[in-house]
Amino acid sequence: MNPEFRADLHCHSTCSDGSDSPMDLVKKAKLANLHGLSITDHDSIEAYTPELFSLAKELGVRLLSGVELSSELKNITVHVLGYGFDLQSESLLSFLREMQQRRNDRNREILEKLRGRKIMVFEEEVLSLFPEEKKSIGRPHIAALMIKKGYVNSLKDAFELYLKEGGSCYVPGFKFTPGDAIHQIHQAKGKAVLAHPHFIHPKSVKALLELPFDGLECHYGTLHKHKEAPWLKIAKGKGWIATGGSDYHGVFKPHISLGCSWVNEAIFDQLISP
Ligand code: AMP
Ligand code: ZN
Ligand code: FE
Ligand code: FE
Repeated sequence: MNPEFRADLHCHSTCSDGSDSPMDLVKKAKLANLHGLSITDHDSIEAYTPELFSLAKELGVRLLSGVELSSELKNITVHVLGYGFDLQSESLLSFLREMQQRRNDRNREILEKLRGRKIMVFEEEVLSLFPEEKKSIGRPHIAALMIKKGYVNSLKDAFELYLKEGGSCYVPGFKFTPGDAIHQIHQAKGKAVLAHPHFIHPKSVKALLELPFDGLECHYGTLHKHKEAPWLKIAKGKGWIATGGSDYHGVFKPHISLGCSWVNEAIFDQLISP
């Protein structure tokens, strides 16, 4: 085992709400001295092209398939990370198509609510601000349009004033439960991990820990080192893999740098499908 090995298992590309292309993420991973990387876009695996794998191989960065699935448990959003799954899995691809459908409907409902509050933002405007095809659009993109049109000053304000969970223009209703998300990842021969559990209310965490996850995200870009211990203990007790990553989003979250949270080679290897 290489004692120097470091892999960031949580970041977002332009295929969802990150500002770097997948190719740039691999290049930045190399520059940040990372040996492994997983790009975990929201409800999308479009980042994983043959070109990306070629580049990663050329640069000596080990690339692990990854995704961050949106699910809901009793009106609370729960993010489920999937790793090491089969990128060609028909069942996963069709699940993601359904997810995109729901996202599009939800985005329209959010925009409608905003217009109800005299914030005149339209779907076509969001799409022309983010013209890449096959992109997983969500609240951060709507927030970017609100900033551009001068309705709010920052992403933080857009969420605080309107878009956060329970906010006046929030729309719940992701179609699937965390259990469904885990099932989909398992169907595609991957490992399912509960993302950033420290963001979730302790009561909900308790119920989530009863689900058949394979891992728990114990290391996280904005989670202080001394706050990792309880999560590591839970993972150990359950025999789950203790994963970690930065949750890098590029310029959209400039306080988080790629590789600021990482795992070693043994953890990385456990996430590769057999
Ligand atoms: P969505 O997938 O449309 O529900 O958007 C979720 C994404 O919005 C998260 O992954 C974050 O990138 C971003 N987000 C959620 N809450 C906040 C917040 N309070 N401030 C800034 N960004 C947020
Ligand atoms: Zn995000
Ligand atoms: Fe998340
Ligand atoms: Fe994330």
